[in-house]
Amino acid sequence: MTEAGAAGTDRFVSSFFDEIKKRIRPEHFSTWFSNASLSEVTETDVVLSVESTFIRDWINNKYMGVLEESSHAVDGKHRKVRVTAVPGRNIFPQDTPPDPSLPSAPGFTPSREEGPIPAATRARVVGTPLNPALTFENFVVGLSNHLPYAAARAVAEKPGHAYNPLFIHGSVGLGKTHLLQAICHEVLRKGSVTRIRYISCEDFINQFISGIQGGDLETFRDQYRNTEMLLIDDIHLLAHKERTQDEFFHTFNHLVNAGRQVVFSSDSPPQEIPTLKERLVSRFKSGLVGEIELPDLETRIAIVKRKARIRGTEFPNDVAQFIAERVKTNIRELEGAVIEVIGYSTLNDGMPIDLELAARALKPILTEDPVHSVVSMQEIFRCVQKAFGVSLTEIQSKKRTQTISTARHVAMYLARNHTCHSLQEIGGYMGGKDHASVLYAVKKVEDRIRKDPRFKEIIQKVRSDLLGGAA
Ligand code: ADP
Ligand code: MG
Repeated sequence: MTEAGAAGTDRFVSSFFDEIKKRIRPEHFSTWFSNASLSEVTETDVVLSVESTFIRDWINNKYMGVLEESSHAVDGKHRKVRVTAVPGRNIFPQDTPPDPSLPSAPGFTPSREEGPIPAATRARVVGTPLNPALTFENFVVGLSNHLPYAAARAVAEKPGHAYNPLFIHGSVGLGKTHLLQAICHEVLRKGSVTRIRYISCEDFINQFISGIQGGDLETFRDQYRNTEMLLIDDIHLLAHKERTQDEFFHTFNHLVNAGRQVVFSSDSPPQEIPTLKERLVSRFKSGLVGEIELPDLETRIAIVKRKARIRGTEFPNDVAQFIAERVKTNIRELEGAVIEVIGYSTLNDGMPIDLELAARALKPILTEDPVHSVVSMQEIFRCVQKAFGVSLTEIQSKKRTQTISTARHVAMYLARNHTCHSLQEIGGYMGGKDHASVLYAVKKVEDRIRKDPRFKEIIQKVRSDLLGGAA
């Protein structure tokens, strides 16, 4: 250490971090640097210590230039900056030890204090079913979402340690559910936490109400308090639900005080959720609040290509760009456009996917007012009823006669391709089917379109009826 002794080093350290702050957004600083420290400062080198290899890699990729500039700005010397991960360092400020005065759920020890998980203990996620495709690997990272993505990764890497709670917000269709479910998949894969509960806020509210109605609130409470990691999707739905908010507040406190990870998604930041009680707002803000913003063109292009590849097709660059330039505000719609183009090619004997085909396939969506570009479930039901001669009640029933099943499958296929509804929502419209049944139906219809020319013709007719003769 060649500064003027320890005092010089201290000065360097604080100026160094001040210089970083000047160069990056405050939320990025707090995500990546608020818990970093300098373990070495010499005439030629600076070594920054961080808690995990994930944070190290992220800083190496994104912030090396900023670090070198910051070091130079302190005293004009050119130093080489290195980042090291010191695993197990307990440096996150949120990382307070579990409160021993709090009652623990039966048999529960906070995960950080657990030894290796016994072989017999299997990690599982209970609650709302997961979509297997919503993994970190399938998530495209860009400027618009890198902060919540990184936070979600850090949480999955060390639940209960990094950001607790983690609150991800952003407008509809931008990947909130994707990130929450990716955390679940990753935690399941690692098996570091066993009792995980992922639940839509709607299901949470319904469970609470049935708990009250059935006089069995204790079971409801136990279930939640016995959870090691809780993820609630669309927490903004707690707006105007005063009693559920109170119940939730206690569950939340219990879990966070016991060091268990809690993650939320919401369509708006905590302070903008209508009627959300102040004490919940401040709880939500006490961890990390990260926003997913609208993706830029490059990210949208990358997403289009990724979505096509997941479906076994490569889109040429011009086609990906064509789509990404036209669908800007909702990734679910972007994905819908990809499915539309692939579907159009399949229905036309595997016609190669080029600009002309994409333009034709997307004409009905792109030329219309965006509000009307996506068809409604009612329209789908109307067309399917007409084509197959079955009633809506039959489609939504459990009957499995061949015509009714086919009509139901086709309705699901059309809903998947022409609406923005999630698999779970589509299942709901079909009389309460789960997301796996919807996936199965969509695949079945796609297979049959490939193999059965008569069926393909029927689907083409239903589609053109649905899209006003434009398909
Ligand atoms: P939200 O919950 O914010 O309304 P979702 O998570 O349901 O949005 O995302 C809508 C669709 O967009 C999903 O199919 C999801 O896989 C996809 N999606 C969103 N963001 C990304 C991304 N960054 N990379 C890949 N797919 C994404
Ligand atoms: Mg969602």
